[in-house]
Amino acid sequence: KVRVRFAPSPTGPLHIGGVRTALFNYLFAKKHGGNFILRIEDTDQNRYVEGAEDYIKESLEWCNIPYDEGPGKDKGYGPYRQSERKHLYKEYADQLISSGHAYYAFDSAESLDANRKSHEKNGKTFIYNWHNREKLDNSLTMPKEEVEKRIAAEDYVIRFKSPQDETLYLDDEIRGEMTIDTNVLDDKVLFKSDGMPTYHLANIVDDHLMKITHVIRGEEWLPSLALHVLLYRSLGWDAPKFAHLPLIMKPQGKGKLSKRDGDKMGFPVFPLQWKDKDNNISAGYREDGYLPEAVINMLAFLGWNEGEGSEKQFYTLEELVEAFSLEHVSKSGAKFDPEKTKWFQHHYLQQVGNEDIALQFINYVNNSDKGVSLSKDKDLAYITNIVSILKERCTFVSDLWEEGSFLFKTPNSYDEKAVKKAWKDQTGDIMTELAGVVSTIEDFTAENVQQEVKSWINSTDYGFGKVMQPFRLSLVGEMSGPDVFVIASLLGQDKTLERLRNAIS
Ligand code: GLU
Repeated sequence: KVRVRFAPSPTGPLHIGGVRTALFNYLFAKKHGGNFILRIEDTDQNRYVEGAEDYIKESLEWCNIPYDEGPGKDKGYGPYRQSERKHLYKEYADQLISSGHAYYAFDSAESLDANRKSHEKNGKTFIYNWHNREKLDNSLTMPKEEVEKRIAAEDYVIRFKSPQDETLYLDDEIRGEMTIDTNVLDDKVLFKSDGMPTYHLANIVDDHLMKITHVIRGEEWLPSLALHVLLYRSLGWDAPKFAHLPLIMKPQGKGKLSKRDGDKMGFPVFPLQWKDKDNNISAGYREDGYLPEAVINMLAFLGWNEGEGSEKQFYTLEELVEAFSLEHVSKSGAKFDPEKTKWFQHHYLQQVGNEDIALQFINYVNNSDKGVSLSKDKDLAYITNIVSILKERCTFVSDLWEEGSFLFKTPNSYDEKAVKKAWKDQTGDIMTELAGVVSTIEDFTAENVQQEVKSWINSTDYGFGKVMQPFRLSLVGEMSGPDVFVIASLLGQDKTLERLRNAIS
């Protein structure tokens, strides 16, 4: 049975790259009738950030990609927080020591630093491995008794002993086969004397114990693949299959998408708003008014498409589950496109019910400083009707205000350019006549208003433009908005007349 995991470290808010990883894991699990597991990788306590785990869970919930197993949902493989599994890892580090695949090392931070610096000076990178192990301060150069003494008395680490002169063949579901020469590998630290494993050891042990079948994660972990494969081999375990998802690139030019790109260009890179400990706020898709469906659809296309010839753009989550496969995930970086996200958002807003949008709009207006207060009891039907007419012009619920604020607020000024163009000497008289016509209409529907006003215009020699432009200006305050007759019918007879009279005076 397919078992995949999303294994974030709670070091801050989840970047949308992380949400994309979670989504692809979720899709793969559901496609194959498997389980999607959330594992919190919190072994690095220096980088732990309060609130990050809750943020991760809330993000998955908002995106409608719930985990089947994880913190609070133990299906027999828990606990799912590495800090709560602390006692498990030492045994495997010990096993690697006794089988000769790992060793104790005592180098101080200062001596490692000095080594690093002296290498840098010569334009080289310091690698701790087969070619200099003997010269460094580790158990491979000491008698057993000394090693034991030092373990008891000093800080130590356990390092992986990466093999010399071997070519490794690594398999990736997306990238195919890759080869790597083990001579370039670092002897990575697996365990520290504070009793905590590093990411590498904990990750492998947990994937094994949790019976993970496929590791689907970001490309930034590809350089760790060789070590991970070697760890599985050294522990005598079968490795899961691996798939490394392509990087998410900046909207323009090269390089990885970063939080700063979002700040600069005004789009969120986080699913939900995040407030850091200094109260700096980072924008989130949810608070910016996006629908999770739009965000999911956008994320799905970051590195995936259904394949050559497929023109389909809009996928519900169910359709994604159906269509998804790792074969159609690309190797090359996926460019992030904030405009495309808005385009998806526009599409999905159109699918939301009018009354639902109206309710959200009432909330939005009442909670912002618009100088208008709307009532659910009195205004819902009116606003629902407005939504049905203006929705198509809107990407976000808040756009309804941009598109239709004149429906809630009498214009208190008129667009100057439009006045110059549309308001002539005789306009006041024409509008007075129009008000007369409007006041006689009995059933004030858009059709009736249109019919009465048009037949009156035809009976005069004013011409259409001379009536309709100032009519619009009187009702809206500027030359924008939907059909004037629709506006009039929405406002109703009294308000239409009132606005005409205001404009005339
Ligand atoms: N804890 C790692 C991260 O934060 C997980 C990497 C993996 O999936 O192996 O991305």
